[in-house]
Amino acid sequence: MDAESLQTEALGAILGAHTLAELDEVRVRFLGRSSQLKLALREVRDRETGQRLNGVREHLETAVAERQAILERANLDHSLTTESVDVTLPGTPIPRGHLHLITQIRRQVEDVFLGLGYEIFDGPEIDDRWHNFTALNTPDWHPSTSPNDTFYLADDDNLLLRTQTSPGQIRFMETHEPPVYMVSLGRCYRRDTPDPTHTPFFHQVECLAVDRGITLADLKGTIQHLARELYGPEREVRIRTSYFPFTEPSIEADVTCYLCGGAGCRVCGDSGWIEMGGAGVVDPNVFQHVGYDPEEVSGFAFGFGLERMAMLRHGLPDIRALWENDLRLLRQF
Ligand SMILES: [Zn+2]
Repeated sequence: MDAESLQTEALGAILGAHTLAELDEVRVRFLGRSSQLKLALREVRDRETGQRLNGVREHLETAVAERQAILERANLDHSLTTESVDVTLPGTPIPRGHLHLITQIRRQVEDVFLGLGYEIFDGPEIDDRWHNFTALNTPDWHPSTSPNDTFYLADDDNLLLRTQTSPGQIRFMETHEPPVYMVSLGRCYRRDTPDPTHTPFFHQVECLAVDRGITLADLKGTIQHLARELYGPEREVRIRTSYFPFTEPSIEADVTCYLCGGAGCRVCGDSGWIEMGGAGVVDPNVFQHVGYDPEEVSGFAFGFGLERMAMLRHGLPDIRALWENDLRLLRQF
């Protein structure tokens, strides 16, 4: 075999390869296992021939590697000039979720009360008669204690799904000395047939303040602050007398309509007022049940529905809309 002419021929073929595939064919032809060069190297018996043929092999291998680098670079240049990505185009949008309306309002109410220096307390959703009724001055004969109104646990007339967040007041006072500034937010359960304003479960925010010299004026001021945070700075609050077993006096609080400002519209039923919920001055009997001295301290409490707040906020006509998980509705807020 003429090593010199083989090398010349091979170098010509390497330089003549215009694609990586062509170059690979050339490499196999001149440097592959069955190439003339490899076969000759296997037959080598003397050192001088071996060195010469190995020199040719190394030379050709280097030439192939160099040619390969040139062709790869050309490929890259080609794709950079012909294929293009416009990085200024907007990407594929990723749909973003958001917190449920009740969670949003719950967190907002929590923020309002944390800002006033209140403590947040989580009471149990399964509670007993004592905390849910008796300690809240609600006697056993009261209709709200009936199994027609309250979910009792099977075979148990003591344990129940709490019907209000108020038992949180009792549990908190049992373990804390006054002064008390506490809110408790969470789910409550009542045997109600679902309709536009009722569901068998709902959420309440319970607020309790106990200190020396607390009056109805403090209650009104607190409700007004909450209403203004939720519905805007122009809101006014009015109170009407009402009755609840655990407060004396008891009131219902209304706030001027956030939509019409009190002039009357469809949201407020043309009255100009929106009902916030029940409240009152804590009954001295409740303090006696938890070992507080009603001569020493006084307090106020209220329990408002979070669903009602969310419905008013967003103008939802039906409470069930909050739990039907209709994304067309939920995505609007
Ligand atoms: Zn209105």
